Amino acid sequence: MTASLEPVPAPGASHPRDLLGRPLRDLRISVTDRCNFRCTYCMPKEVFGRDYAFLPHDQILTFEEIERVARVFVGLGVEKLRITGGEPLVRRNLPDLIAMLAAIEGPGGDELDLTLTTNGSALRALAQPLADAGLRRVTVSLDSLDDAVFGAMNGIDFPVARVLDGIDAALEAGLDPVKVNMVVRRGVNEDSVLPMAAWARDTGVTLRFIEYMDVGHSNGWRLEEVVPAADLAATIGAAWAIAPVGPAYRGEVADRWRYLDGRGEVGIISSVTRPFCGDCTRARLSAEGQFYTCLFAVRGHDVRGQVRTDPSDAALSAFLTDIWLGRDDRYSELRSEATNDLPKIEMFAMGG
Ligand code: SAM
Repeated sequence: MTASLEPVPAPGASHPRDLLGRPLRDLRISVTDRCNFRCTYCMPKEVFGRDYAFLPHDQILTFEEIERVARVFVGLGVEKLRITGGEPLVRRNLPDLIAMLAAIEGPGGDELDLTLTTNGSALRALAQPLADAGLRRVTVSLDSLDDAVFGAMNGIDFPVARVLDGIDAALEAGLDPVKVNMVVRRGVNEDSVLPMAAWARDTGVTLRFIEYMDVGHSNGWRLEEVVPAADLAATIGAAWAIAPVGPAYRGEVADRWRYLDGRGEVGIISSVTRPFCGDCTRARLSAEGQFYTCLFAVRGHDVRGQVRTDPSDAALSAFLTDIWLGRDDRYSELRSEATNDLPKIEMFAMGG
């Protein structure tokens, strides 16, 4: 028998648990910090105008680097990869990356859950090439069916019809189920909640409402602008009878509600009023190769430096493991006046 030259991992190190006992199951990979939308709650155009300096190309991880990091993460227990940004579909040749990631064998030889979050604007052109490359499903962000409301929220007057056409293209390409995320901001798109729910009931997409969060610093977030999950459930429940459904798996972020008339489900992501840090198994890799252990982190860990100086996967694995073992983030449970001014990273830069 030939002896392995790879160092034997320390007990427990191959599936590390953090200081709060949480395993590493999901990796969100941002492939760009650029976006063609200027959503007021994420990347307002007053702050991110024409002269804003996005990352230069050489500072962004290459597809080969992303594949390597993802593969090492999978070795640590990651089962799900979500591609995000910025707007991931603006990264050139994205289907090539999807094909590389789809070829990674999941833990125990299973297929990885490989998905992507997008504003949908380029899905008509890219849904089929992405599906052909091995993407399994997709989540589309859409904040209203009303052009005036949606245009004001996306900051560039992008028409609803083009996103709906992108969703159709995703369904035609078999990227099923299509999930649709809607951020609800009080006084801005509350009136779109019921029309969106009615549309989702008719089309069969899985709709999830998201409480407006205090990510980054540019959106001028105020607690008064959050429509609490309980209010959203009451609004929907007043229109159609609903009943709660238990989570499909540990760590599921959406509270799920079932329509009693059999017309599917709706989810509500309540990161502000009912935080779910205790079950958070997510890691984030930014486009420039920073590893973040929380959406609200104030600093990342330099994976790009590690990847560009040390070719050994074992060293990279040990580097990532050490960071996860030391993780104690639970920002949303600690959110208060005292956390308001922490120097948080913008969501488009970290990866949403
Ligand atoms: N561009 C892609 C998209 O639109 O889905 C991916 C990146 S985007 C940052 C990911 C998700 O984060 C979107 O669903 C967006 O609505 C959500 N998001 C951004 N800022 C948010 C905030 N302040 N509160 C809640 N959700 C937010």
